[in-house]
Amino acid sequence: VVRESGAVARLGGDEFVVIASELSFAAGPELIAERLLEALDQPFRLAGGGQTCLKLTASIGIAAGDRESADELLRDADVAMYEAKWDGRHRYVLFEAGMQTAVQSRMELEMDLRVALENDEFFLVYQPTFNLQDMTPTGMEALIRWNSDTRGIVQPNDFIPLLEETGLIVEIGRWVLREACLQGVRWREAGHPIGVAVNVSARQLDTDEFVTDVESTLRETGLDANMLTIEITESALMRDVQQTAMRLATVKELGVRVAIDDFGTGYSSMANLQQLSVDALKIDRSFITQMTHNQEGETIIRTLVALGKALSIETLAEGIEQTHELSLLQGERCDGGQGFLFARPLEEADAATFLRKWTAEKALAAASARDRDS
Ligand code: C2E
Ligand code: MG
Ligand code: MG
Repeated sequence: VVRESGAVARLGGDEFVVIASELSFAAGPELIAERLLEALDQPFRLAGGGQTCLKLTASIGIAAGDRESADELLRDADVAMYEAKWDGRHRYVLFEAGMQTAVQSRMELEMDLRVALENDEFFLVYQPTFNLQDMTPTGMEALIRWNSDTRGIVQPNDFIPLLEETGLIVEIGRWVLREACLQGVRWREAGHPIGVAVNVSARQLDTDEFVTDVESTLRETGLDANMLTIEITESALMRDVQQTAMRLATVKELGVRVAIDDFGTGYSSMANLQQLSVDALKIDRSFITQMTHNQEGETIIRTLVALGKALSIETLAEGIEQTHELSLLQGERCDGGQGFLFARPLEEADAATFLRKWTAEKALAAASARDRDS
């Protein structure tokens, strides 16, 4: 691909450098990158590897033009390569000024995240979910937060993608699971038995380790399996349906519940939902927001709730903020929901207060019902 006018060398590990002279550059450096990707894309067999076919992907960064030194040219190519990785791999990116700062800040974020777990900087907040007919709490969703020395409280959308990209999510997800289960046990011991829901990333479901993790975490923390719900997004589910279905089935055999998060934004088929025997669909907040704006929005909600009913899967609405959203959802007989209208994600102490209040109200209601009956 590189031809006579260039050189290919291995820098170390899985990093290679291609040096192309002006001659081969004439048609544009992108052409070389395109040809490299194409060449790597061809399946090949390893000697003695049997019938197994392998394929390689590469992230290519390109730096062209004059620099003070060769080091600087390499550094810029490196920056562009990180950009290519970040963009989703198996692609090339041409270096541009300004990329440096974006890559730099991501690398700093990654470095900070690598020590955050050891330094105990993550914590969980809990958002209650409610039964929409009688408004009783049905569970608590654990949501991660990062209390960084230098950045303050960081929201998951600002660091989960990087955790997924680097694979750090596997270790941190394991911590979340354990922490949430321990919290569930503490609530039970305080007299408030309530289920906990934990968000799980696709990367965590990539190996069988996930199943053993759930099993050992339940055993070690003492949480009843039916008090745990695993939330996975539709897109995570669809990455490798066969493998994921198998792992989820094993987890479900333990008694754990499975919910599909952000439902409606991915591409799961009815067959998948049935095959997985999913317990709940969490209808994405975007549909709840749309619902009261136009007729189509309302129709979509009606259809999604009807789908749940037809498949005997519970439906939950995410992000309920307005009372008219609530009334509409109640009218459609959506089973449950969560949202700022009822409660924001609560820190541990506030979650405890919330549960105490609810338990007290429940006791009061039971007492007055007894009074009425006698
Ligand atoms: P999600 O699982 O769909 O969680 C619901 C998100 O919606 C939460 O955002 C919650 O604070 C927010 N929310 C709830 N009610 C309302 C509302 O009425 N209005 C609005 N505008 N927002 C509402 P949060 O905590 O920022 O989490 C964002 C996403 O990050 C989560 O979406 C989940 O996908 C991911 N995430 C959070 N914690 C974890 C975790 O421990 N592991 C993994 N893998 N992902 C997590
Ligand atoms: Mg969730
Ligand atoms: Mg969601």
